[in-house]
Amino acid sequence: MDPILGIDLGTTNSVVSVIEDGRPLVLRDRHGEAILPSVVGLDAAGRLLVGREARNQALLAPERTVRSIKRRMGEDATVRMADKEYSPQEISAMILRTLKARAEEALGHAVERAVITVPAFFNDAQREATREAGLLAGLDVVRIINEPTAAALTYEPHSEKNERLLVYDLGGGTFDVSIVQIERGVVEVLASHGDTHLGGDDFDQLLLDYVCDAFQEEHGVDLRGSAASRSRILQAVEAAKIRLSDEACTTIAEEFIAEKEGRPLNLQFEIDRHEYEQLIGALLHKTLACVDASLEDAKLTARHLDRVILVGGSTRTPMVQRLLFEQLHHELHLEIDPDLCVSMGAAIQGGLIAGVDVGPVLVDITAHTLGMECLGPLHGRMSPHCFSPIIPRNAPLPATRSEIYSTVHDGQDAVMIHVLQGESDDARFNQSVGEFLLDGLNPEAEQGNEILVRFSLNLDGILEVTAVERDTGREKAVTIDNSITQFRAKNRDEARARLAAVFGETTAQRDSGAVAVAEEVPGTEEPLWHEAAELLAKARRLLPKASAEDADEMRRLIDTLQQAVERRRLDLAREAHAELADLVFYIEDV
Ligand code: AMP
Repeated sequence: MDPILGIDLGTTNSVVSVIEDGRPLVLRDRHGEAILPSVVGLDAAGRLLVGREARNQALLAPERTVRSIKRRMGEDATVRMADKEYSPQEISAMILRTLKARAEEALGHAVERAVITVPAFFNDAQREATREAGLLAGLDVVRIINEPTAAALTYEPHSEKNERLLVYDLGGGTFDVSIVQIERGVVEVLASHGDTHLGGDDFDQLLLDYVCDAFQEEHGVDLRGSAASRSRILQAVEAAKIRLSDEACTTIAEEFIAEKEGRPLNLQFEIDRHEYEQLIGALLHKTLACVDASLEDAKLTARHLDRVILVGGSTRTPMVQRLLFEQLHHELHLEIDPDLCVSMGAAIQGGLIAGVDVGPVLVDITAHTLGMECLGPLHGRMSPHCFSPIIPRNAPLPATRSEIYSTVHDGQDAVMIHVLQGESDDARFNQSVGEFLLDGLNPEAEQGNEILVRFSLNLDGILEVTAVERDTGREKAVTIDNSITQFRAKNRDEARARLAAVFGETTAQRDSGAVAVAEEVPGTEEPLWHEAAELLAKARRLLPKASAEDADEMRRLIDTLQQAVERRRLDLAREAHAELADLVFYIEDV
């Protein structure tokens, strides 16, 4: 039977997928590219360009190039390309035809049917225009579905459970957040908010201005004045922005970017993630306000959500993930490529319509967070056992990430790099996978000497750790084989031993299985007991403010935590503490 294509017709980029052997398969062009920039243009000779080539000429020949046509869908208007006028449907059809041709080339036969996704906020006219664009491209559009619905389908193709998901979609040019409910396989969008002019392009623009301002200050030349250098810098800053998602710092370098008094000028600009985050912070906070508004519209709080799914390339930005986690206290799902999951979900919908049995999407991901031990805040005070994550849990493999750390003392000549795996903020509760000493550091350096630590984890679980003193370039690296399997095998025994060590327990007690029951431990040594007492008092104070349902849950957690504290069961106490703290947080917030 003819397959049904799943098409994500995006503002910035478009993607096409199909179900093959029961799984969604993203179809690539002959260069292996999955993403087609949603840009259409005519070259100087009047030849049609769709995708990367059109995008490359956009700044140099804007009069011959059309981008972001999705924003005009449903309007009774035309756009000009070279000397002709086109309807938004016609421009979109050019993109769809290119995707159809790509699919036919990859599959080796003609395809006629497609499911196309649109934003949840699209009105009837916009949906109708999308359907018409499909027809013009020679496609029978069997269904138009909402983008957040498609994203939800990649995670839950057959959900029989009732689930509520929050889909946070931050792409190149647009942002939207939706609350989606799946009930017995029926997907419904409960609420949706967004900003049709907010996305990665804005981050590029902010970074471009930052770089150009600094260049202007140094050389007295405004690089924004020439379309050619602007275009080069825009590409360079976008690439730097993408690197900053994995690396703690990066360099933007462009040779001969301008000329001054007959002399060529080079651009060489170093930026770290912290500086970049300061540039984009205000825009990200706007997206968080939309998250709140959509929850409010759906009459829910974050606690009622079962999952948070990230969609759109810009959600790979660590600050996006950090802020969302802080706001929602939910694990974030982006293990299915956030650039591709909408199209994969559309293909799944196509498969379901065609009656194909669709299995779950398979991805290779890290099962545990990898990070290192350092000095940092733990339970409200500074501790040398703070666990600093570098590669988060559920990161797709292979993964390379880096972070910058600082020395603590003036003249510190060595740092211990202690690599661990696990989810606790307290390194002592995670699994040690290796350690090494970076010594011979600059003895003249003051406290705050920066050490760049990079983790590279490949598909076989081999972890390469590199530590570099940024000032001098002094570097040391180790390879830890099979960090993942090692963890699984040794996990329990070592965790027990470590717990015992933390409790100061004897071997005989440990062998008797009394690992976490540590009556002998003086209560004052474990900060959680203090925190638990404070939290219990606060929770009891808040009880009258809670709804009947929340109050029941709160009483249950108060009891569990109280008992865990009385029995000095640290493991149970941690769990109950975390749950109760979440609940208190939301009730305080309401
Ligand atoms: P989309 O419209 O969903 O394809 O998203 C495209 C946007 O995601 C562009 O602005 C890209 O620059 C941005 N993007 C892609 N990969 C990353 C990354 N690793 N970190 C940050 N932004 C990214």
